[in-house]
Amino acid sequence: MTIPFNIEAQAGPARLGRIHTAHGDVDTPAFMPCGTAGSVKAVPHDTLEELGAQVILGNTYHLYLRPGHELIRSLGGLHKFMSWERAILTDSGGFQVFSLSQLRKITEQGVNFRSHLDGSSHLFTPERSIEVQIALGGDIIMAFDECTEHPAEQSRARASMELTLRWARRSKDYFESHSNEVPWSELSSNKLNSSRRTQMLFGIVQGGMYPDLRRESAERTVEMDFTGYAIGGLSVGEPRAQTLEMIAAALEVLPKDRPRYVMGVGYPYEIAQYAAMGVDMMDCVLPTRAARHGLLFTSEGRVNIKNARFVRDGNPLDPQCGCRVCSRYSRAYLRHLFVSGEPLAAALNTVHNLWHYLDTMRSVRHAIRIGELSGTLLSSSQHSALSTKPR
Ligand SMILES: [Zn+2]
Repeated sequence: MTIPFNIEAQAGPARLGRIHTAHGDVDTPAFMPCGTAGSVKAVPHDTLEELGAQVILGNTYHLYLRPGHELIRSLGGLHKFMSWERAILTDSGGFQVFSLSQLRKITEQGVNFRSHLDGSSHLFTPERSIEVQIALGGDIIMAFDECTEHPAEQSRARASMELTLRWARRSKDYFESHSNEVPWSELSSNKLNSSRRTQMLFGIVQGGMYPDLRRESAERTVEMDFTGYAIGGLSVGEPRAQTLEMIAAALEVLPKDRPRYVMGVGYPYEIAQYAAMGVDMMDCVLPTRAARHGLLFTSEGRVNIKNARFVRDGNPLDPQCGCRVCSRYSRAYLRHLFVSGEPLAAALNTVHNLWHYLDTMRSVRHAIRIGELSGTLLSSSQHSALSTKPR
């Protein structure tokens, strides 16, 4: 297979690369904003483009339940439905089935669950997940996996990992026999990147909090030969040192010529650190969800905008930030919007937080290009520059 991924520069294990999708290139290391139900909450698409988002996530579970993947397919796929011409990655639906739905029952075949919206009963199997993801038409789609709960005994983590491996095989088999069904496969080549006309399927490494299982899961997933590899089942309540250990164990095994994606992480200083370890893609609801709660990430740390000390503060939220919010509005105004419950608060706060995350990745890519980002930890000066630890 031709791997639609180039590595342009390296600094230690960190890689500066580019993923070529049918809907444009994605510079890596990349942070991917979450467009859960076909929308990055509170942010219009032209603003997302201006922020420099090259790829956003869509959640299969949400879109399957509402408005439904068949409706989206009939309207030309998710890109056309939501009018987003850049890349989209869809998850397998597994994580939300495990975290949101009620009365789920896991069998070898798949997962029976009830919708969190109306209680209706559904079955997700590897085949069904890939069928839905083909109908949605994301550029990058994910194998169906079981997100192992935490904590889990080693025997339980192994059984879950083995199930994920069997489901990965079934996901890939279904994908290979149906990949021509993607809704945009018939589009004219001038609309699409001509070198890439199909979806890419990524496998997912599981294995709980056991480094040996993580390595084995990575080895056996790689044997199936996916276009890229994700590391799943992290940020589920484990200590941070353990997250790092599990990522390192999987990265030891994952091939260097394929994109590597850590799912559902993290704070800005964490995503910079994972990129320094050799991770190429990350996503997290944190910048968007925190923004809607008035929690803002800045070059000086985390800020709670509803704090009374901002009542008369005419300064920009983050004087170091180049976003349109910081260049126009004061902390006092942002606080007023938030405490008044104005919808504009969610929009402005999210724009700033997404800029901060995307700009962190731009800084990381620049550091790799000039050869200054190396090792498994950033140097202390870079760490403080990129850090947004709570203050
Ligand atoms: Zn800003």
